[in-house]
Amino acid sequence: MAKILVVDDSSTVRKLIINILKSADYETVEAVDGVDALEKLAQEDIDLIIADLNMPRMNGLELIRTIRKDPVYSDIPIVMLTTEGSEEDKKRGFEAGANVYLVKPAPPSLILYKIGSLLNAEK
Ligand SMILES: [Mg+2]
Repeated sequence: MAKILVVDDSSTVRKLIINILKSADYETVEAVDGVDALEKLAQEDIDLIIADLNMPRMNGLELIRTIRKDPVYSDIPIVMLTTEGSEEDKKRGFEAGANVYLVKPAPPSLILYKIGSLLNAEK
């Protein structure tokens, strides 16, 4: 089963997302911010990333830009999941390289549908 990296500085949000992912039998890895996410990427074989926007040390946009510049990780699909729902923020997210932009709280069915689509498109 696909392994998904969940990046959010809120442990409550991480738990929530991980429960949704586990209900669909995905494997999960957690990271607390962008710096931690890059470390986990180097350690684990990650198939997809779900990233928050606002985080300390390295935020979601910086993380996505860093990943998109790295030839090893640049093709990994990324879902941005954030409370920031303005058109301006969405535009920034897509410009950074997010494949999907979801606003919290996104329905579990929508999260799983988007992830399924991205993973299938990879095959
Ligand atoms: Mg946050």
